[in-house]
Amino acid sequence: MKVAFFSTKSYDKEYFDRVNSGGHHQFTYFEAALNSTTATLANGYDAVCLFVNDKADKETIEQLSANKIKLIALRSAGFNNVDLEAASKKNIKVARVPAYSPEAVAEHAIALILTLNRKTHKAYNRVREGNFSLEKLTGYNLHGKTVGVIGTGKIGQAFCRIMLGFGCKILAYDKFPSEKMREAGVLYCSLDELLSQSDIISLHCPLSPETHHLINKQALSKMKKGVMLINTSRGAVIDTADAIEALKNEQLGYFGIDVYEQEEKLFFRDLSEKIIADDMIARLIGFPNVLITSHQGFFTKEALEQIASVTLKNINDFENGSSLENEIKYQ
Ligand code: NAD
Repeated sequence: MKVAFFSTKSYDKEYFDRVNSGGHHQFTYFEAALNSTTATLANGYDAVCLFVNDKADKETIEQLSANKIKLIALRSAGFNNVDLEAASKKNIKVARVPAYSPEAVAEHAIALILTLNRKTHKAYNRVREGNFSLEKLTGYNLHGKTVGVIGTGKIGQAFCRIMLGFGCKILAYDKFPSEKMREAGVLYCSLDELLSQSDIISLHCPLSPETHHLINKQALSKMKKGVMLINTSRGAVIDTADAIEALKNEQLGYFGIDVYEQEEKLFFRDLSEKIIADDMIARLIGFPNVLITSHQGFFTKEALEQIASVTLKNINDFENGSSLENEIKYQ
């Protein structure tokens, strides 16, 4: 099949060329992100391969359909960037990589927690400048703390297992609680209970109309003063403006994010020589208790290998007309 890749980076090309080493499929790698302007690049291809900040909205899908695209192969788990209804209407199938090393994202959430808490990023810089002082580097023990987990799917469960190992009490909120997690010692409760009792809150639910701005002014006000909030799910689960207010009034004590509401204009690019026009990210960067990484939770060798091989399987399944195991259907 002829597949047009959008938002391609060097590592995508490396891992996808490796799984397609026999050259069965013809892969073309575009650096541009998919949107209604760049959709014309897909002309002459059978499928498009997209990542998290490619936008397959209704208008773009109509253009993809006019270009005879039959498959959207997502090289991600989340699919909030695809209008499934529009794709279904145009008979374009959508497939994703439902699970690729959930531990990769869970471990990154832990990295954010440990860095924010023990301030290793600040210590690293201090020591390099010959400053061996411990002033203002005080952290707290994770052992015995209450950690709230919103969404206990694959990543949330991996996260719970690690935090249980730290000796934390885990409160979880999910519409579909996991018996396995209950048996492991996770306590399910209401969202309000989780918000009010947790010292650390980590988000692992997908972005949907229901979870859009789930963490807003009201939710933030129910949290313990000085709470640590970690988001490795999707940026828009948090109302960023409300989070900034909560940081300013010190309700939010630590904020670690791997995802950001307006990330498509920023993340995955080197903008170090550019003026950042986004005032909210500039404000966030300015807080001493905020740690931002640019959507790198998934970024391990194991995950990249799995993303490439499962995406290839999805493309093969579609080509062979076999059942598309990882299809996401409009419901
Ligand atoms: P999953 O589908 O296995 O689990 C999601 C869980 O969230 C499910 O248990 C579901 O019941 C629950 N959920 C859904 N709506 C909810 C709600 N309103 N309130 C509480 N819980 C709710 O997904 P996963 O593989 O664990 O991934 C979770 C999310 O992580 C993805 O949707 C994606 O947005 C994000 N993600 C981020 C990265 C990264 O690099 N930072 C990588 C992969 C995935």
